[in-house]
Amino acid sequence: MSYIEFFTNSPGWFIGSVFVIGLLVGSFLNVVIFRLPRRLNYHWARECRELLGHPADAGENPPPGLIVEPSHCPSCGHHIRFYENIPLLSFVLLGGQCSACGAGISLRYPAVEIFTALLSGMVAWKFGVTLATVYGLLFTWMLVAIAFIDLDTQLIPDNLSLPLLWGGLLVNIDYTFAPLRDAVIGAAVGYLLLWLIFHLFKLVTGKEGMGYGDFKLLAALGAWMGWQAIPMIILLSSVVGAVIGVFMMIFRRSDRGQAIPFGPFLAGAGWLAFVWGHEITAFYNKLTGMGA
Ligand SMILES: [Zn+2]
Repeated sequence: MSYIEFFTNSPGWFIGSVFVIGLLVGSFLNVVIFRLPRRLNYHWARECRELLGHPADAGENPPPGLIVEPSHCPSCGHHIRFYENIPLLSFVLLGGQCSACGAGISLRYPAVEIFTALLSGMVAWKFGVTLATVYGLLFTWMLVAIAFIDLDTQLIPDNLSLPLLWGGLLVNIDYTFAPLRDAVIGAAVGYLLLWLIFHLFKLVTGKEGMGYGDFKLLAALGAWMGWQAIPMIILLSSVVGAVIGVFMMIFRRSDRGQAIPFGPFLAGAGWLAFVWGHEITAFYNKLTGMGA
């Protein structure tokens, strides 16, 4: 019996295996979320100095790369050994502390691992033993990295949003999630819609409400799902954004002028529409009696 037959006949094993893969990938995403913005900043600073005619090298060491260089404790520099780097398990066994200096390890690391694993398991459950699951997992993992990097830095790196956009167009060459025609239009409409809102908002209020990274992210979502998904993504992201914004105002007393990144809401709404789009539409139609 081939693996494909085995997993098709035992969906529990399939979803469980993808869940475990999700934990491992989540562990890697923690590294990407932490290191990629630092790498980009380092290179931007070099380019800026070059542009201004200064020596590009200002003497600082480049931040570690994403794959080759091992992790260290940010407090004491303790080299994290492989058995201290097992997703979830190590965090529990170490009691959430560095084994050398006892500094607390942020709860966000295991949280990102579990979160990634849960989303991965849901994709496997939804799409089954198909190529769509493989594509859907890549889509999901990119969105997790984008959402957390935007949350931390208010930036969505082009190195993530643009490959996501091309990826969406490529997987739809054979109509995996949408006809290629709808995907191409979706990419263009996604970008232009937010570009238009951005400039209208700026014209009226003189403020910049979001960034170009958000336009590229919605373009990417349009490429994966086709232009028809864009109204739902906008609607869902506004609802989620409004709910979280109100919570932040109540509990953190943040002043209303403080920028809240839009990318995590777009990414969250995009993922929901990707996995549950048909169910959400059916539910909406039932509510309004349109499906009757
Ligand atoms: Zn330490």
